[in-house]
Amino acid sequence: MKKQGSTKAAEPVFKQAHELGWKDFEPGFVLTEVGTSRYYRTGDWRSKRPVWDNSRCIQCGICYIFCPDIAVRRRPDGFFEADLEYCKGCGICARECWTNCIEMKDER
Ligand code: SF4
Ligand code: SF4
Repeated sequence: MKKQGSTKAAEPVFKQAHELGWKDFEPGFVLTEVGTSRYYRTGDWRSKRPVWDNSRCIQCGICYIFCPDIAVRRRPDGFFEADLEYCKGCGICARECWTNCIEMKDER
């Protein structure tokens, strides 16, 4: 006759922090390919989009520098626009623009 509780899995053995070495850690957060963030289209999150009024833009590039997603790009005519595939609508470009020529408008 089987003893009661004999099929119970063995209790895991936990080490104290001072007993751990690097070989005790499972590999994690391993990047197997570089540049994969471009596949992550943060524009899907957006509820507002930046709209430029170029009549007031002095082409200083501050909106380009401050965009955390590198979603502002310079057009051939020197003005700037958002790449809506990646713009997540945070509004930082509009907040930082010297001349207030970027307005955040609701997505429809
Ligand atoms: S709203 Fe945010 S993510 Fe979009 S262009 Fe402006 S700073 Fe970049
Ligand atoms: S920060 Fe404003 S003024 Fe400067 S380039 Fe961008 S939109 Fe134009």
